[in-house]
Amino acid sequence: MSVSVAADGTKDGFALAKEASASAPLALVLDGKQKDLSFVPPSGATVEIVTADTDEGREVIRHSTAHVMAQAVLRLFPDAKYSIGPPIQDGFYYDFDVERPFTPEDLERIEAEMKAIVKENQRFERAELNKEEALSLFASQPYKVEIIEGVAGDAEGADRDAATGEALSIYRNTVDGDERFVDLCRGPHIPGTGRIKAFKLLRSSGAYWRGDEKRPMLQRIYGTAWESKQALEDYLHRLEEAEKRDHRKLGRDLDLFSWSDEVGPGLALWHPKGSIVRKTLEDLSRDMHLERGYQPVFTPHIGKSTLWETSGHLGWYRENMFPSMQAEEGEYLAKPMNCPFHILIFQSKTRSYRELPVRFSELGTVYRYERSGVVHGLLRVRGLTQDDSHIFCRRDQVVDELVEVVDFLRELYGMFGLSPDRVRFSTRPPKSVGTDDEWATAEAAIPVALERAGLDYVVDEGDGAFYGPKIDIDVRDAIGRYWQMCTIQVDFQLPERFGLEYTDEQGERVRPVMIHRALYGSVERFTGVLVEHFAGAFPTWLAPVQVAVIPIADRHIDYATEVAERLRQGRVRVEVDDSDNTMGAKIRHHQLQKVPYMLVVGDDEAANKTVAVRRRTGEETRGVSLDDLAAKLASEIEARSLELTV
Ligand SMILES: [Zn+2]
Ligand SMILES: [Zn+2]
Repeated sequence: MSVSVAADGTKDGFALAKEASASAPLALVLDGKQKDLSFVPPSGATVEIVTADTDEGREVIRHSTAHVMAQAVLRLFPDAKYSIGPPIQDGFYYDFDVERPFTPEDLERIEAEMKAIVKENQRFERAELNKEEALSLFASQPYKVEIIEGVAGDAEGADRDAATGEALSIYRNTVDGDERFVDLCRGPHIPGTGRIKAFKLLRSSGAYWRGDEKRPMLQRIYGTAWESKQALEDYLHRLEEAEKRDHRKLGRDLDLFSWSDEVGPGLALWHPKGSIVRKTLEDLSRDMHLERGYQPVFTPHIGKSTLWETSGHLGWYRENMFPSMQAEEGEYLAKPMNCPFHILIFQSKTRSYRELPVRFSELGTVYRYERSGVVHGLLRVRGLTQDDSHIFCRRDQVVDELVEVVDFLRELYGMFGLSPDRVRFSTRPPKSVGTDDEWATAEAAIPVALERAGLDYVVDEGDGAFYGPKIDIDVRDAIGRYWQMCTIQVDFQLPERFGLEYTDEQGERVRPVMIHRALYGSVERFTGVLVEHFAGAFPTWLAPVQVAVIPIADRHIDYATEVAERLRQGRVRVEVDDSDNTMGAKIRHHQLQKVPYMLVVGDDEAANKTVAVRRRTGEETRGVSLDDLAAKLASEIEARSLELTV
């Protein structure tokens, strides 16, 4: 917990932290800027003490641990050149220019060396230098020289070690005044390395200097650091759990989807089992959109370049679009978004205020030219199908429509045991199009709508799209990870660019407002997240195979087939396992495939028209009548239950 305390101009952060009884203080915050505890804040200032068990505190720990790691690497690899080492989500990294990539054994040695440095309890000491002094101090370190030369090299954001402003700051690690390590750094840092309680190095990989493939390939070591051994252990456990849930691995194991070099990166091939999951999601989406007054539309995958000029995509989105195709009558481009097509449908006839809001909805497949390096499983792809809708409405309808979208979202996400958790409202960016009046209208509508919808949110000042403010909604999955899913945007610009109009009560022509929204986001990404959320063990209504019937011996195959037929009539997705495998092997197989129910049938079951039900979780119920089973399964699927009920 961080605590606030008033400064008197004489006490440093250590004294103030003591006064405030802050436990495990690491740094302080003055006017939004973090400082070392050795800093003496001016009289009258209120400062916040950053403690180890906060996000800010962990960031200070992680950044300090990155310095310790760099020192350890330089001890073991004296010729290494060190570049940058920022804290990141849950950890830190540092990039080194070394002769050869690090091996797992290297990481062990580095970790051991780091423990020694922690034991020495070296002090972190800040000093400020001018450019010349800094250049001479780091003369043998080309990456540091480049950072100093280019002070503005900090612009890309990831690089906290690049100093800013006039003076450059450095941090020395010392023992009894002896310097052990020095790094160019903005700080703040923990007072001494002894405050590092728990850390672990995780892996290493190649990374281009400045992320630029024309620059040298460096070796990046990733690590994590926490305020206590327990917090570290919990994190490592979460990591392990996340690995088991990796949708790319499960996608392969469960035969859901794959990728092929012959097709190209980021273009998923949906296998039959994955397609069942997808179809179920799509059917649900289509039904719910109809129920909520959306009208379905279908639009082409490609359109003439002139369309994308009008929409502005060629101006501001070109680099995310695949190169054009040349046809007889001009250039065509694969659509990166569906909006222009929906606009043309709106424009296909004159519209009256009475018709508004008009809500078009499409499972629209779009193509985005993601760089091959960032493509990631189903989470970041080049071909994706959005559950994309565009709402055309009057200005006075925007709030109601936004509230309705949030309500829709809640109902939909609830079916998967997910809920909107982290909500960001992003406002007008420095560079934007549109009038002040339009922005004011849109920006006023969003908070009103979010409050009415009962959603807490944070404001991301200046992070909106340049054509309108937006709402981003994250969900938290079964193991507490956040995923960004849904985006809602209020847009005045496309209606302007396309000259959209409707006729109001007075017979005047008025521009409608457009709301862009996708709830799943994309079917690809949503499926990927669901696989991880459920760890592949889909609830019965989503499971590709809902029931596996396992005959004990060959003479039971007929009855097994009868059971399967009966369930199939109720539209249950069922398989009969008539393989030659042993009973144990069959059960293991279906358990690994995460099939919700296995029905084991032998002489007794055939004679009594019953089944022995075995859940994928291991519980067994014997002697369940076929009628009973069929009824229970039907209601479980119908209710889209998240639990197994038979
Ligand atoms: Zn630093
Ligand atoms: Zn759109």
